[in-house]
Amino acid sequence: MAHIVIIGGGIAGLATAYYLQKQREATGAPLDYTLIESDTRFGGKIVTRTIDDFVIEGGPDSLVTTKPWGAALCRDLGLDNELIPTNDYKRGIFILNKGKLIEFPGGFRLTVPTEFVPFALSPLITPLGKLRMGLDLFIQPRQETGDESLASFIRRRLGNEALDKIAGPMMAGIYMADPERMSLQSTFPQFLEMEQQHGSLIKAMQRAKKNRPANGAANGKPQPMFLSLKGGLNDLVEALVQRLQGELCLGQRVAAIRSTNPGFEIRLDNGAYPPITADAVVLAVPAYTAAHLVEPFLPQLAQLLAKIRYVSTATISLGYRRADVIKQHNFAGFGFLIPKSEQRKLAACTWSSTKFDGRAPNNDVLLRAFVGGDSREEVVDLPDNELLSLIKAEIADLMGVTTTPVVHQIFRWNKGNPQYDVGHLAQVDRMQELAQQVTGLYLTGSAYRGIGIPDCVKDAMLTAESIFKRLYGNV
Ligand SMILES: Cc1cc2nc3c(=O)[nH]c(=O)nc-3n(C[C@H](O)[C@H](O)[C@H](O)COP(=O)(O)OP(=O)(O)OC[C@H]3O[C@@H](n4cnc5c(N)ncnc54)[C@H](O)[C@@H]3O)c2cc1C
Repeated sequence: MAHIVIIGGGIAGLATAYYLQKQREATGAPLDYTLIESDTRFGGKIVTRTIDDFVIEGGPDSLVTTKPWGAALCRDLGLDNELIPTNDYKRGIFILNKGKLIEFPGGFRLTVPTEFVPFALSPLITPLGKLRMGLDLFIQPRQETGDESLASFIRRRLGNEALDKIAGPMMAGIYMADPERMSLQSTFPQFLEMEQQHGSLIKAMQRAKKNRPANGAANGKPQPMFLSLKGGLNDLVEALVQRLQGELCLGQRVAAIRSTNPGFEIRLDNGAYPPITADAVVLAVPAYTAAHLVEPFLPQLAQLLAKIRYVSTATISLGYRRADVIKQHNFAGFGFLIPKSEQRKLAACTWSSTKFDGRAPNNDVLLRAFVGGDSREEVVDLPDNELLSLIKAEIADLMGVTTTPVVHQIFRWNKGNPQYDVGHLAQVDRMQELAQQVTGLYLTGSAYRGIGIPDCVKDAMLTAESIFKRLYGNV
């Protein structure tokens, strides 16, 4: 019987265990697994807290539908009827521009204008900035191969204003990253493809739009931008844990791994148990923890893993009685993003109860503020009362909401967001090569080939497949 040890019980570790189990069920192969999680709960960054019927997400709040693996896993687990779409008819996103919230012009897809009229009328970009964006139609594609930063790409094709007012806040908002350091290849490879195939982002987007049916969906059904689960994303974690039949260890930190070639010995922190033996080990932990664990037998890999930068972020959710705030703000949209040039402590704010139904009791509203990320990290460490006062002051200033919230929740993610710097993919390929020097060692999770839940699920599926292939060939 082959024994696999999966270290880390976030979505990456849980999904790896799930897909291993599915392969075992499909093939009857003799395999068991142990999943070890250091925290007292599974889910890692996924955490939902329900307080007075406000459904509050501490980490992720949605699954992007253009990457189908997250929703597919939910459906596979029988959560079809629990999936909820974003209220896209209210999808307006606002950008802070010189202290004012200005709605993103309609027709923008991934920072690129695809409709002339709303773009031309938008006060967000100056006439000169608009002209510069239009030059995208004529600028030749880049000749050099290799990675470049997102900032360099957007500046090259659409100009500085598009970078500062649109691409920077939007893209950096997703990755909590500095576009000057972000790897284009690892984060938005579709931009590269558009440039190479169509010679212009605007032309590529317009062609893609023409090929889409009028209602905006590839399969004839309108596709929401994002999905979530009625009870919050922790329902995905619970469904996975319920389904897993292997040994699940909570509150056990892995302190060290010894490569016994073949196989491994895994030592837990408390030292109370004899080392656990395994034929394969999956490291579904942050890269800096993986670095520490492989250091004794793969020091070169450890060095590369340790180089993946992480930044800290925090989310602060505030719930209000609707009647108290609705005269101050209409909450009509998904929320707003703040460019760095505005020099605010707040990075972004989601109007959670507009984005998804059921996030607040019927007559109430919920919003979620973001702080931290690249070069704004110091705010995350403020004491709770100071952080709360700061957010309330920002919300009062930017939205005019001065009422005291009836509910608040702070979640801090210390070194919780991996950064995909320029050259990231090449480094990950090298890490994969080095890991293969020790048979049975696997790396998965948000540090490598995609930060979102759908990417983590996809990578977990591929990891389970590789383990099976190595052990049993093509079954
Ligand atoms: C504020 C925020 C908002 C986000 N929003 C979205 C979103 O809307 N949509 C989206 O798709 N993604 C979003 N993400 C990203 C997504 O949540 C994460 O990328 C994903 O959940 C990471 O999963 P993971 O399993 O790789 O890592 P983690 O969730 O970090 O799991 C790693 C686990 O390993 C455990 N561990 C660490 N060391 C040890 C050890 N020595 N022994 C045993 N266990 C150990 C940890 O306790 C943890 O549970 C967001 C992230 C944050 C922080």
